[in-house]
Amino acid sequence: VSALDRVVIVGAGAAGHHCALELRACGFAGQILLVGPERHGPYDRTLLSKDFLEGEVDSDSLALAHLGEYEAKGIELRLETEVVGLLPRTREVALANGSLVDYDRLVIATGGVPARPRALAGSAGRVLRGLNDAAELREELVRARHLIVIGAGFVGGEVAASALALGLTVTMIEALPTPLARAVGAEVGERIADLHRGRGVELVTGTAVTAIVKGDDDAGVVVTLSNGRELSGDVALIAAGMRPAVQWLVGSKVDIDGGVVTDELCRTTAPDVFAAGDCASWWHPRMKARVRIEHWDTAAQHGTAAAQSVLGDGQPFAPVPFFWSTQHGIRLQAVGHVDAWDAVEIDDSKGKDSFVARYYRDGRLIAGFAAGDPHAIAEARRELESSRRARV
Ligand SMILES: Cc1cc2nc3c(=O)[nH]c(=O)nc-3n(C[C@H](O)[C@H](O)[C@H](O)COP(=O)(O)OP(=O)(O)OC[C@H]3O[C@@H](n4cnc5c(N)ncnc54)[C@H](O)[C@@H]3O)c2cc1C
Repeated sequence: VSALDRVVIVGAGAAGHHCALELRACGFAGQILLVGPERHGPYDRTLLSKDFLEGEVDSDSLALAHLGEYEAKGIELRLETEVVGLLPRTREVALANGSLVDYDRLVIATGGVPARPRALAGSAGRVLRGLNDAAELREELVRARHLIVIGAGFVGGEVAASALALGLTVTMIEALPTPLARAVGAEVGERIADLHRGRGVELVTGTAVTAIVKGDDDAGVVVTLSNGRELSGDVALIAAGMRPAVQWLVGSKVDIDGGVVTDELCRTTAPDVFAAGDCASWWHPRMKARVRIEHWDTAAQHGTAAAQSVLGDGQPFAPVPFFWSTQHGIRLQAVGHVDAWDAVEIDDSKGKDSFVARYYRDGRLIAGFAAGDPHAIAEARRELESSRRARV
């Protein structure tokens, strides 16, 4: 076993932050470097499209910890520092400023970057992933009257709802016939579409966006749809999902296949290099599949699990995934992995703006999704966890 004096964590997001804290909590006494390109220390990204955009919280209150807490724990935060390459043979990472930093163990926790459909590369559409994106978007929204959102996924839906709360009108364009059909199925997607339409969002489905250009005199935007229709707005946001931020690993020994490939102990294919969070495509021993999950709670737990593996004390990472979103004041929650279900049962009996979906495979519950019903999700979680224990 090689010496373990210095752990470098690339990416100061949810996974990186929890990884650093766990290393100390487990008694690791060596150096911990937490590296990120942003000006801010780790912060709660999930509020960017919700409370932050609506002006309910400011950027300082998004911080996951005061900078002094990292210092007190001897965690060195290297902010405004981008990592551009990995040299596993010499155990070094290359920084954008040309310098090299060596490591004994490396944790890759770089999350993702917003995806832009090819036709919209270099277009006038904004994207939202980081605090700077959110601050710029908010500044524009408070002066705007009409927002066009491209992509009716969770982030798109949240921004649409926040913009309505700020008094804007919103058009949301979705390429699929039903929003979120791939993520949660058409039945649930239709109900989410109804939530948006019921609140006054103009939702256009089954239609792609082919261009976004600045309006006359650089004022506002003009969005062209695949059916030829042109829409004018003050701001356009492209919310077309993300892709893992792994470009800097191309050419290293780390296998990339839809994310950084790891085993259930967060180990990549390069020695002493681990990965966690949104960027990792990991072997889930209970699902018997490689999965990549974009959920805040899972990323945080994944960072913790990676720290334990770094210290040689890892347990197979096999969480029941959990996700939430808030749109139009309604809590949407999912538990389990909504994937390859063969039956879905929907209960609409609890009244307006509320429903519960339970997904089954071979007669066995695999996931639950609920709008405005946390109890149903807690119950589904209990069932999923007890069926897991029964099968261990
Ligand atoms: C607007 C928005 C709202 C969301 N809302 C929810 C929600 O309500 N519920 C939910 O469960 N999930 C939500 N998510 C998803 C959730 O935020 C992610 O799953 C979670 O942040 C993943 O954590 P992570 O640490 O893997 O990645 P990130 O949080 O993305 O952190 C990765 C960090 O790595 C840094 N980085 C990237 N490349 C490099 C590099 N080359 N060198 C150094 N550092 C680098 C990035 O700057 C970033 O700070 C939301 C996401 C977004 C964008």
